[in-house]
Amino acid sequence: MGEVFVIVEHRLGEIRDITLEMLWKAGELGQGLSYKVTAVIIGHEVKSIAETISDRADKIIILDDERLKNFNADISKEIIAGLIEESRPTLTLIGNTSWGMELAPCLAVRAGLPLATDCIDIMIKDDKPTAQRQMYGGKIFSNVSFTPSAGYLLTIRSGVFPKDKIGDRQAQIVQKDLPPKDIPMRKDFIEFAETAAGDVDITQAELLISVGRGVGEEGNIPLIRELAEALNGLLSCSRPIVDKNWLPKYLQVGTSGKSVTPKVYIAVGISGAFQHLAGITGAGTVIAINKDPKAPIFRTADYGIIEDLFKIVPVLKEKVLEAKKG
Ligand SMILES: Cc1cc2nc3c(=O)[nH]c(=O)nc-3n(C[C@H](O)[C@H](O)[C@H](O)COP(=O)(O)OP(=O)(O)OC[C@H]3O[C@@H](n4cnc5c(N)ncnc54)[C@H](O)[C@@H]3O)c2cc1C
Repeated sequence: MGEVFVIVEHRLGEIRDITLEMLWKAGELGQGLSYKVTAVIIGHEVKSIAETISDRADKIIILDDERLKNFNADISKEIIAGLIEESRPTLTLIGNTSWGMELAPCLAVRAGLPLATDCIDIMIKDDKPTAQRQMYGGKIFSNVSFTPSAGYLLTIRSGVFPKDKIGDRQAQIVQKDLPPKDIPMRKDFIEFAETAAGDVDITQAELLISVGRGVGEEGNIPLIRELAEALNGLLSCSRPIVDKNWLPKYLQVGTSGKSVTPKVYIAVGISGAFQHLAGITGAGTVIAINKDPKAPIFRTADYGIIEDLFKIVPVLKEKVLEAKKG
């Protein structure tokens, strides 16, 4: 019987969604191929995390120690490599998060196992996985196969699998101790710096007007904000707008921003990169204003306006204000 390891990601006592998503995929593979699902939790005082997922795994391996309170790739790598050596799982799934992106490459080198990163799906045939990935900003899907190996490491993109429970399992809990030898640590944890929460919450908005790089310069942002206000909606944005410091991070939509669920989402001067679109999968009606007819956003949008935003937005705002007056 094969086994799938899921490396549990948690922060400040909370399990992260990516863990539930990986457990869903591991569970799905487990159902089809009778693989055992094993969750590996490294941390301190993680009992409640184990309880949260006890019906999603067949086994939970816990390493609980004060020294593991904060994530450290050096130490996690040694621990997981030891567990892999002991159990020889067919697959080890790690989140393609900032945490996982630090851990997975050094673990691959330490364990001598092949690694495919940022996978959006996994297929298994004859105990050998094929990973699906995206290339060129999501324009092309590629299937990556591995040369035969004792095991395979995959990092999984956030948001591609459901968080739901799949199957009904009852985990056996196995406590393990830290390896006795000293593990050289090249990094020290300093602190968690939470981003500003902001005074508006775009995740609760019913109508969002999102501005992208097409707006050209910071001085043009008020134009889009005025449209948002006229429509009684909230302003949000794509990542380049935050990177340029034109708007705060808490207004960013997408994989490294927020997932939003408005009834109406108006994308203004946004191309529709997959990292942005991943944040609007829960949106109702999507309307795009973009002067490039080939912009990928039009593949997602329910309505599209192919035109210069500087022609459309002022007219739209005026029409809305007129309608309100009258
Ligand atoms: C790890 C990672 C995480 C990321 N996370 C996110 C994320 O959370 N959110 C996010 O948004 N991005 C994210 N990105 C960036 C993402 O890949 C894209 O680069 C970004 O979404 C592009 O933003 P944009 O559409 O505003 O800009 P662009 O791609 O430059 O698109 C601008 C669009 O405006 C149009 N345009 C230009 N002028 C006009 C005009 N006058 N009128 C009308 N249309 C006009 C253009 O035709 C173009 O389609 C991430 C990238 C990485 C690598």
